[in-house]
Amino acid sequence: MEKIGFVGLGQMGSAMCPHLLKSGHDVTVFDISDAAASSLEKLGAKVASNPKEAALGASVIFSILPIGSIVEQVVFAPDGIADGMSDGAIFVDMSTILPDETRSIGRRLAERGLSMVDAPVGRTSAHAINGKSTFMVGGKKDDVERIKPLLECMGEAITYCGDLGSGAVVKLVNNYISAVSNLVTAEGLALGLKSGVAQEVMVEVISKTPAGLGHITTAWPEKALIDNASPAFMLDLARKDIGLALTAGASCKIPLSTGSVAREFYNFASAAGHGEDDWTTGIFRAMKSIAKIS
Ligand code: NAD
Repeated sequence: MEKIGFVGLGQMGSAMCPHLLKSGHDVTVFDISDAAASSLEKLGAKVASNPKEAALGASVIFSILPIGSIVEQVVFAPDGIADGMSDGAIFVDMSTILPDETRSIGRRLAERGLSMVDAPVGRTSAHAINGKSTFMVGGKKDDVERIKPLLECMGEAITYCGDLGSGAVVKLVNNYISAVSNLVTAEGLALGLKSGVAQEVMVEVISKTPAGLGHITTAWPEKALIDNASPAFMLDLARKDIGLALTAGASCKIPLSTGSVAREFYNFASAAGHGEDDWTTGIFRAMKSIAKIS
């Protein structure tokens, strides 16, 4: 059993920390909200009066806080985590913050001989309550192996993403795809509803296509992910279909903002010679060529 520090007991922290307590670990918590800390005290945690005290004597110190500047403050302000960390202890930040913020905090800790892992959390607080969180983890492999059993107390899928900050990168990419898909889903369903089609009908159809199932596991594996441009569905046909949707949206006054931007990129990809490529590979090739990714 380990001595653990845990800072940040909001929706996520208050759902995750109890799993460490249930596994028998000796956990000292800190949050600026006394109410949040005392609800963990009732479950067996000790309560610290500042982040340094939560870190004192701990082998691993977790944080899960709203934004990067707060993580930085909790680590480096007077009476911060860095002041309390002993040699060999590992700071694990599970917040969703910028990769550069993670790397900068890691560099400053390394200057003091201290280690850091980033382990942003996938899924929601409902999954966290049930110990079903996922973790995207970045840092030195040995450090990650060292803290893995503790992450396993709080979640199930733990993916090693690479050096420090890589967990933050993967989290950001995942959430970007997910959040933008959320908007395009709203746009599409609104277009259908305004055009007089029942929601259940659209859900039935879309649930069986890449639009509903997600591209990365349906349309992409045999094409874009292996750079196979032979068309299952040609980019120029997809470009035409976006145009049809935009025309329909204009006539019933539904703003299709994501689609408008997408059409410009499809136009560019087609002009760049990808019109007859598979729609997934053509778009990915066009994007990689702009970004100079070989
Ligand atoms: P939250 O706002 O519910 O909790 C944040 C906690 O941090 C609060 O208890 C607050 O009092 C505490 N806090 C703020 N400043 C502090 C300080 N200086 N010292 C100590 N404690 C301080 O946020 P949350 O939903 O728990 O999210 C935390 C992080 O997890 C965010 O980066 C979020 O993006 C990420 N995340 C959230 C979810 C979710 O479903 N809520 C899912 C995945 C990832």
